[in-house]
Amino acid sequence: MGDYLANLNPEQLKAVTLPRESALILAGAGSGKTRVLTTRIAHLIQSGQASPAGILAVTFTNKAAKEMLTRLSAMLPINVRGMWVGTFHGICNRLLRTHHRDAALPQLFQILDSGDQQSLIKRLAKSQGMDDEKFPPRQMQNFINNCKEAGLRANAVEAGDDFTRRMVAFYADYDAQCNREGVVDFAELLLRTFELLAKNLNLLTHYQERFKYILVDEFQDTNKLQYKWIKMLAGSNGCVFAVGDDDQSIYRFRGAEVGNMNDFVRDFAVEHVVKLEQNYRSQGHILDAANAIIAKNKARLGKNLWTSEGKGEQLRVFAAATDSEEAQYIVDEVKQLHREGMPMNEIALLYRSNAQSRVLEHALFRARLPYKVYGGLRFFERMEVKHALAYLRLAGNPDDDSAFTRVVNFPARGVGARSVEQLQEAVEQGIKPSLMSAARAGVVSGRSGTAIAQFIAIIDLLRTASENLRLPELIEEVLERSNLAAHYAAERDGQDRVENLHELVNAATLFAEEFEHGETPAGEAEADVAPVGTHQQQVLAAFLSHASLEAGEHEAAAGADALQLMTVHSSKGLEFHAVFVSGLEEGLFPHDNSMNEDGGLEEERRLMYVAITRARKRLYVTYAGTRMLHGQPRYGMVSRFVDEIPAELCKWIVLPERAQTRWNSGASSNSSWGSGGGRAPQADPDRYATAPRAKFELERPDAHPFAIGQNVQHAKFGEGVVLNFEGRGLDARIQVRFKTDGTKWLALQYAKLTAA
Ligand code: ATP
Ligand code: MG
Repeated sequence: MGDYLANLNPEQLKAVTLPRESALILAGAGSGKTRVLTTRIAHLIQSGQASPAGILAVTFTNKAAKEMLTRLSAMLPINVRGMWVGTFHGICNRLLRTHHRDAALPQLFQILDSGDQQSLIKRLAKSQGMDDEKFPPRQMQNFINNCKEAGLRANAVEAGDDFTRRMVAFYADYDAQCNREGVVDFAELLLRTFELLAKNLNLLTHYQERFKYILVDEFQDTNKLQYKWIKMLAGSNGCVFAVGDDDQSIYRFRGAEVGNMNDFVRDFAVEHVVKLEQNYRSQGHILDAANAIIAKNKARLGKNLWTSEGKGEQLRVFAAATDSEEAQYIVDEVKQLHREGMPMNEIALLYRSNAQSRVLEHALFRARLPYKVYGGLRFFERMEVKHALAYLRLAGNPDDDSAFTRVVNFPARGVGARSVEQLQEAVEQGIKPSLMSAARAGVVSGRSGTAIAQFIAIIDLLRTASENLRLPELIEEVLERSNLAAHYAAERDGQDRVENLHELVNAATLFAEEFEHGETPAGEAEADVAPVGTHQQQVLAAFLSHASLEAGEHEAAAGADALQLMTVHSSKGLEFHAVFVSGLEEGLFPHDNSMNEDGGLEEERRLMYVAITRARKRLYVTYAGTRMLHGQPRYGMVSRFVDEIPAELCKWIVLPERAQTRWNSGASSNSSWGSGGGRAPQADPDRYATAPRAKFELERPDAHPFAIGQNVQHAKFGEGVVLNFEGRGLDARIQVRFKTDGTKWLALQYAKLTAA
């Protein structure tokens, strides 16, 4: 037995050393599933049961695949570079490149991203004279991708009505066009590989014999086609080692099927379903919280986790008055953790929706803390945000050629590439100083010319608006007039982008306030501000330079030891010493959208479970009483998920000026964070305290007599802690979690509450 087997518990060892048979490892977060999968690969190779070329391992993200290769090369004395370890897309791409002729593709076929796919669909629909109101291009795109992900070509789709028949016919034409151009969209990668092997018995047999061992991580998130693909590649004599956790299935909205687990056990005659129940990642309180939350779900295969690590610290729950206060608290805590010796990249900030990163990024930017947005872009680098900013830039300066090129035809309004070239030529030949001036001079005629005239009209309108409208209102105007908001709203995965656009309005609201109070960070506002123009135009100019500066920080953070920001979805499979889960408000997490869907709430709860189980030692849960939405404050209610965490696992944090006792030393305040042993944390008496006695007033029109987090006494229900408020004056209600009677909403006017 190699050294690599020494650090496994008996169940893990059993799983790693199972004989050649299909098996399912069904186990909770942090129980070592990924470690078992990787170690099994090493073991198969070391013990001579398989050659490196005989193994196919599928993971969920490129990062996970890279990590797996790194771990393998530490365990094996061979070069692991050429091994087939990758994502479904990565592996399919490799197969299609190798067998491009059989797949009827040019060797250098291009992969279309979602945007490319959409433009192709538009071009084709236009050439067929299709009415884009009746057949919106984005709807057709969704239709095509859904069909492909279900494994269906056009001729296999059943169309019950004329409309669907037309869509199906278009799907067929779309595929034909892709083939003519030699391009492949994402869904096609998988479907094409599936068909390649299905039609080509020699090839299929070759790979079935080659890949004696197939291993799949995060199996709970495979979709129908991916499962069929694995099944086919495994063949009748295949050996598939699947690891997964039904409680972490978080992609059902994209067609992932947790039922694949049951099918797998049946289809592959699985005898061994191995359960791993010891968690090696999180300390006791964190794990207890995760277990308690997921226990509320009904649709579960059922399992529990334990740890021998000890209870560790309690969860820190912070109820902020506003989203900015929440961000500020996080920044302060991050600084403190770092002072205590915790490496920045061991700290993660998680949020439910991408748009939430904006407030956090802003606070981090001002505090000059290096951060990296993982699995996505920084707020001001996101495509939709840059598009909106381009309209703003043109409103400020119509001669901004790069902004012009970015949006003259986005959203598409029928300005062809050739027309833009004509404008460019006019500029190059010195006939006109800018693209906009060339456009105004009527350099382009015909249909494109009309479309350009429409664009000029939009910009002129925005330019006039920019003189007097306040910045947030100007941005609302941009979103509406440019058609950007409507454009993304119609996209299949466009919700996130729409949220980001609205978040830009919030960014502007905050920025405008800071500008008026002279609080914009030094050197940032002055640099590019045009000395001319109305007051509002100066605000606009300052905002635009702020946006570029904040985006430009990227370089500085690259490679540095940076804080990790990401959505809960992207955090799957990862782990950190300290994790902040922010924005725990009803409507945000659980997200509003999930409420209308069957099983939506349970999927949100699984997301919360994923979030909590990323933390090793310290977990923060934060929420805000008010949050900006479309530039207006929205009063939030604390998320039910906070409520579902047993009270004894939590410690409530109170702001220093509102607190009377000192920073509680906590269970492990003598431990050190860094892997090499950092300094012992210093309790800082001026920082946030955990005294729940002080008054904590939400920034609402009228103050409440109690504070969130305060201990109170009720005549009938006994002792409890204040969770939240709602309403005002006579309508005000207070939410209290009682030690013995659970959580209740009480009318403040009548509740017989006293401070405990
Ligand atoms: P997730 O469900 O979040 O993907 P997982 O089940 O894949 O989690 P791993 O990431 O493999 O869990 O393991 C979690 C942590 O526990 C890792 O840091 C891993 O190295 C460690 N670990 C796993 N098994 C053991 C063990 N037997 N002894 C010590 N540490 C272990
Ligand atoms: Mg894992």
